[in-house]
Amino acid sequence: MRKLSELIFNNTYSELPSHFGTRVIPQPLDNPYLVSVNPLICDLLELDPAEAGTADFVDVFTGNDDLPGFEPLAMKYTGHQFGQYNPDLGDGRGLLMGETLTSAGKKWDIHLKGSGQTPYSRMGDGRAVLRSSIREYLASAAMKGLGIQTTHALAVFASDTPVYREKTEKGATLVRVAESHLRFGHFEYLFYTQRHDDLKLLADYLIKHHFPDLRVHTSPYAAMFQRIVDLTAVLIADWQAVGFAHGVMNTDNMSVLGLTFDYGPYGFLDDYVPGFICNHSDYTGRYAFNQQPSIAMWNLSALGYALTPLLDKEAIDTALHSYQSRLQQEYSIRMRNKLGLMARHESDSGLFSQMFDLLASQSVDYTLFFRTLTGIPAEALSESAPAFSELVSDLSPLQTWLNTYAKRLTLETQEDSARQRLMQMHNPKFILRNYLAQQAIERAENGDHQMVEDLLHVLANPYDEHPQFSHLAVKPPQWGKTLEISCSS
Ligand code: AMP
Ligand code: MG
Repeated sequence: MRKLSELIFNNTYSELPSHFGTRVIPQPLDNPYLVSVNPLICDLLELDPAEAGTADFVDVFTGNDDLPGFEPLAMKYTGHQFGQYNPDLGDGRGLLMGETLTSAGKKWDIHLKGSGQTPYSRMGDGRAVLRSSIREYLASAAMKGLGIQTTHALAVFASDTPVYREKTEKGATLVRVAESHLRFGHFEYLFYTQRHDDLKLLADYLIKHHFPDLRVHTSPYAAMFQRIVDLTAVLIADWQAVGFAHGVMNTDNMSVLGLTFDYGPYGFLDDYVPGFICNHSDYTGRYAFNQQPSIAMWNLSALGYALTPLLDKEAIDTALHSYQSRLQQEYSIRMRNKLGLMARHESDSGLFSQMFDLLASQSVDYTLFFRTLTGIPAEALSESAPAFSELVSDLSPLQTWLNTYAKRLTLETQEDSARQRLMQMHNPKFILRNYLAQQAIERAENGDHQMVEDLLHVLANPYDEHPQFSHLAVKPPQWGKTLEISCSS
């Protein structure tokens, strides 16, 4: 475990041509203080968690001090926002501070979000507020706990710097940690500015640092695009299975490593509503929960188009065509695990479609439905509908489905206890419900950080029981289902 000053840096991105970004000094926050630090992310960086208690830690990650090895840089990228190309994007309120290396040579980007204006800020103030920083902090921890690829958040800090949104809020910074901050939009920038040599340079960079196994491939760029398609399909399967809506799937928010990236007005499903729109600025529902699979395909096509100087059309089409079946395959694995099904049977698609119809028609809580089902032994299913009485208003169609499920389980060769164990590993007890995040935020804004800590604790291992925190695993109150989350952050 290292002290902060002992972190080793090897800043590779800043070696790329100068127009890939702009060197910017972070603008400090007034009277900054630590709100929370995630010890699991300290572990990733091999950073001693005790460092979080030092004044240096606060100063360094709120722009008030420097660290040897830091080379703060705002990255330039562009992208498609709500289907429209925008050439003016880039790190407008964040900086890549440097890339640190672990003892095994693994590279982690350290990015400071909320560090002030950059040449890419457009009309923005370059700041982040405590509310949205806590939302990103907790969501990254939740995704990690669920086993879903994501950027991480090392720590969140608040300050006395006022930041004006719909009202005055507390200025904050978040330390984002990720294998890479490369987005689809980095490639789009180079393509739309006709920098085709640099496009190749960036592809080589991505392959060298993140897909080294492709270096010896006979068609490395085709293989790179195929890898991005595969990683994206896996990510979307994870989101759909767990009930996560990203909310702003613009191409500048899509990671080429298939990480969940840029947490804004995201939402985890409470009730199962397939067309759930978590972003209240998304008037047409472009980024509704059930649109995510096709939007990811749209985004991959946009990336494929940007790669045309490197790849022939056939290679792009081949990769794009594989997306749908890979997604289906991954999603099916996850949903089968959620029902604890090991064997495959023809009747399974009917079992799933009846289940989804039931969940949708009665607006059943998605997470609690599966968790409740997990706890019921096969022999009890035939009269288990009352166990769902808090979740389902009309129990009779549910009992019909439970009977079908019980019958299907007789075709399994595994022990029933094995099925229940499998289900327990794939049906979380805890998810980051919107109203829980909101409560944690309101308390933190008043100086009480305990709920942030409690959520961090359960979300790190969301499949465990944590009986003393069961109050964080209940149905949301009615007001909690209708909270409006805007893009403003
Ligand atoms: P986002 O909606 O967070 O994905 O951001 C879209 C674009 O707006 C990116 O180029 C951001 O860097 C920029 N941006 C978002 N918020 C701010 C802000 N408060 N100040 C400056 N730029 C911002
Ligand atoms: Mg963004």
